Amino acid sequence: MISIAAPVIETEEIDAVNGVLQSGMLAQGPKVAELEAAFAAYCGTKYAAAVNSGTAALHAALFAAGVGPGDEVITTPFSFIATINPILFLGAKPVLVDIDPATYNIDVSKIETAITPKTKVIMPVHLYGQPADYAPLQELATRHGLLVVEDACQAIAANYGDKKAGSLGDLGCFSLYATKNIMCGEGGIVTTNNEDHLNAIKRFRQHGMSATYQYEHAGYNYRTTDLCAAIATEQLKKVDDFTAARQANADRLDAGLAGVEGLVLPTRGNGRTHVFHQYVVRVTKDFPITRQELVSQLRERDIIAGVYYPQPLHVIPHIAAFGYKVGDFPEAEKAAEEVLALPVHPRVSEADVQTIVNAIKEIANV
Ligand SMILES: *Cc1c(COP(=O)(O)O)cnc(C)c1O
Repeated sequence: MISIAAPVIETEEIDAVNGVLQSGMLAQGPKVAELEAAFAAYCGTKYAAAVNSGTAALHAALFAAGVGPGDEVITTPFSFIATINPILFLGAKPVLVDIDPATYNIDVSKIETAITPKTKVIMPVHLYGQPADYAPLQELATRHGLLVVEDACQAIAANYGDKKAGSLGDLGCFSLYATKNIMCGEGGIVTTNNEDHLNAIKRFRQHGMSATYQYEHAGYNYRTTDLCAAIATEQLKKVDDFTAARQANADRLDAGLAGVEGLVLPTRGNGRTHVFHQYVVRVTKDFPITRQELVSQLRERDIIAGVYYPQPLHVIPHIAAFGYKVGDFPEAEKAAEEVLALPVHPRVSEADVQTIVNAIKEIANV
């Protein structure tokens, strides 16, 4: 079977976990500090703070950015639900802006009309591993005095110009969930250059504590463990290899699928790299069968394809409750109907890519 995601777990990860188990110190400790230093160095930021999920990373970053009741956060309706839920946890309002159909990222040209006196943060999502159109976004944020929180959960190692995702905005959020480009099962991390933001995140992840049993505000237990950090540190050493393998598979899929009628292949925006967390095609009405039929026929051939995401966020009831309705974001709605992710991860071999290409061409009768 060719799966849609599979972690690469080798002797380095296993030995690292054994080392932590033998040390007897399993909770947040020296391995977390080691991961934070390595992660910040990799992304090119001064600091990083590890937490126990990408969702916690987003929640902590928005808290550090000062988001609270009555504030507005501008983001995209085409992402995983965890992009928006943390805005709600803080009592703020998600203000959604439609996507650019070529990259699936927030359409930066539509952001300015969404800015109000209540706007605090712009939160681009680097969807599928490709950075949003960052330079004009930062220009807007600067001009309006807004902070930028990157949802870089799918974009470790992606570049925009000569900067890495996570070092573009004021705060960068990553997930280390099992299917992400580097992983430790469950985990997350926030990058920043701002020491006040770093300290706010460190308090937020530990009950609001600034020093032993001194509490500045309410907080969570969002700490991660040395077990997770030890795995993630080994994965980080391999991230450039993982990325190169994903990009090579993406290039092979591009070459193999070029010219298949009714399939729209992924694009790469100028001046940035795509790390292909997902390789996403559009299955349009010109393809001989529906997306759902294609998924089923691929599955019969032991090829697993995935739909990320089958519905835009603004139609989900607890988000629609802010006054959104079907028709508000036509590009996001169309994408939700058409997108299909094909296996691209490092454990997909060149032969697997050929199998996928042949299967799709056979199904499409070309
Ligand atoms: C995975 C992901 C998250 C959430 O990360 P978890 O570690 O699963 O909590 C948030 N945003 C995006 C875009 C993601 O892909």
